[in-house]
Amino acid sequence: KPRLIDDEEGGVLFLTASASSSSSGYGFASIEKQRQRLPVYKYRTAILYLVETHATTIVVGETGSGKTTQIPQYLKEAGWADGGRVIACTQPRRLAVQAVASRVAEEMGVKLGEEVGYTIRFEDATSTGTLIKFLTDGVLLREMMDDPLLTKYSVIMVDEAHERSISTDILLGLLKKIQRRRPELRLIISSATIEAKSMSAFFQTRRRRGLQDAEPALAMEPAILSVEGRGFNVQIHYVEDPVSDYIQAAVSTVLLIHDKEPFGDILVFLTGQEDIEAAVKLLTEEARDNRKSSSGLIVLPLYSGLSRAEQELIFSPTPRGKRKVVISTNIAETSLTLEGVVYVIDSGFSKQRFYNPVSDIENLVVAPISKASARQRAGRAGRVRPGKCYRLYTEEYFVNEMATEGIPEIQRSNLVSCVIQLKALGIDNILGFDWPASPSPESMIRALEVLYSLGVLDDDAKLTAPLGFQVAEIPLDPMISKMILSSNQLGCSEEVLTIAAVLSIQSIWVSSRGIQKELDEAELRFAAAEGDLVTFLNVYKGFLQSGKSSQWCHKNYINYHAMKKVVDIREQLRRIAQRLGVTLKSCDKDMQVVRKAVTTGFFANACRLEPFTHNGMYKTVRTSQEVYIHPSSVLFRVNPKWIVYHSIVSTDRQYMRNVATIEPSWLREVAPHFYRQDGPDPMLH
Ligand code: ADP
Ligand code: MG
Repeated sequence: KPRLIDDEEGGVLFLTASASSSSSGYGFASIEKQRQRLPVYKYRTAILYLVETHATTIVVGETGSGKTTQIPQYLKEAGWADGGRVIACTQPRRLAVQAVASRVAEEMGVKLGEEVGYTIRFEDATSTGTLIKFLTDGVLLREMMDDPLLTKYSVIMVDEAHERSISTDILLGLLKKIQRRRPELRLIISSATIEAKSMSAFFQTRRRRGLQDAEPALAMEPAILSVEGRGFNVQIHYVEDPVSDYIQAAVSTVLLIHDKEPFGDILVFLTGQEDIEAAVKLLTEEARDNRKSSSGLIVLPLYSGLSRAEQELIFSPTPRGKRKVVISTNIAETSLTLEGVVYVIDSGFSKQRFYNPVSDIENLVVAPISKASARQRAGRAGRVRPGKCYRLYTEEYFVNEMATEGIPEIQRSNLVSCVIQLKALGIDNILGFDWPASPSPESMIRALEVLYSLGVLDDDAKLTAPLGFQVAEIPLDPMISKMILSSNQLGCSEEVLTIAAVLSIQSIWVSSRGIQKELDEAELRFAAAEGDLVTFLNVYKGFLQSGKSSQWCHKNYINYHAMKKVVDIREQLRRIAQRLGVTLKSCDKDMQVVRKAVTTGFFANACRLEPFTHNGMYKTVRTSQEVYIHPSSVLFRVNPKWIVYHSIVSTDRQYMRNVATIEPSWLREVAPHFYRQDGPDPMLH
């Protein structure tokens, strides 16, 4: 994928990962020298002292100052990983976990997976000798199911706390509890911009009686340390009039900078894979059509789901005489630092989750960022020398309309997964839980209702045995876990495991920009009348029959990396399911049972085609929300009468992705409480 747009050729060259070595990009300074140059180095002693003497230390420091890569190493050097203990550092994003772990392993001169390792869902690169472990906050939450006090960790650094991801917030609440039981545990909360005071107030804990003497010198009120960065000045430019197409505007701005400004890399913030691929494509086309304007540009996408080789290219130094353009999601806002960026282009948007408890729909929406995010993005331009930031929105908009701060994810998410995890950890009074930011009671009630209907919670809102505990054990959305477990009785576990694996990754198709027609044709080869989930089974079968061939994928517009991941995830799910007593069985061609298993999990997402509108409008059965089948679905324009969906994305409308046809009579059968007689009648009309 990575493209080198070169002046000699004028076309597209492919840079291979082996052509770049991530360690050679910093002049001649040794790794030790580089480490000492980071702003956080001056605070090494102070940090170690505070961690020694305080239960909780809050470290605030500009992005790129060395918090993530250095602090775990300082802790290790000071002995916090001696005697079989482990230092943990959490990140909200999987890609960041891999990237920082690999960087730290490199700095320490060890093989990744040994002294320095990482764990993300479905991927564990640690060993018994691991001293520093990077992991997502979600994975650490899961570890608490086996080890509620997280006893193997001496220090837990909750990084990127300002992001306020849902898992971070749950984790903070739980760690506060653990701390009262384990006074020797040290917490470091680190972030780029935090309202350090409110975080500090949250961790203001009183020493518990009985533990008084455990460590008498240990201060219970959190310490706050602020790392002075050395960011350079960044000049901000705004557009004069609002832009209608930020992708096109971003591309034009890249070319303008390239034409007018001295060398220095460009970082562009767009929202997701689709946008990013579109921008990459436009720049590549520009290179073909107009060599002059784009000669010397190296265009690289950055989003989650990139392969390892693609990630390495992002960090590889820019060859002399070239200019790197990294087109990124907001992962480059604070999680990852790219050296050499001098120009930032900020679209003003990011992809965000929004949940409305009234409609009971969770959306992925392209939404405006906050002022805090905009400042972070701009700051990325001042790493190496004074830089410039081009905001693709007006100053008036920034000043008057942008929100000051983002809303914590827990206040804009569906809480089904969150509730079941807390229940599994024995937290019964969820409304009374000590949250850094409280979720809305309405969302909580919706989640309890769905979990009750799934048969996961009983009348007292306790996990049911065995189903509730089993569902909690599977590291997937409870709806998918329920679908897997119910496939046992229906005799279609082989099929359902495949569907669950495919739903765990973003997409198995290659990105659709510009090749929509070819992609549609390819999809038709596999399309099943039962919908996308059954279509996945056809693709998976084809992939296996091809001998897992990359050529076969290429020919069919299927993403080879994604399919390899599906195979891998499926294998892990198979092991978990078997451990939980699911017998492997295929239903052969009987797709009725597969659809039924799907309904058992996704009944809450049932929709019915509006009979009289003739424009493909559906309404959700429960809340009568207007929704449409996504154009990428094999059932787009087919519009069967009854379907369930897996997820919703919003653009001009609310679109259902990954749908399956169902029989309406199944709804009451699988979820009698949810679709009870006196409730909304799914048979209406
Ligand atoms: P912070 O967590 O404070 O934002 P980091 O510890 O992530 O800072 O980064 C410190 C420095 O290490 C940065 O200058 C960054 O460029 C460099 N760095 C981090 N990760 C990598 C990587 N994977 N490859 C090369 N350099 C990296
Ligand atoms: Mg960091």
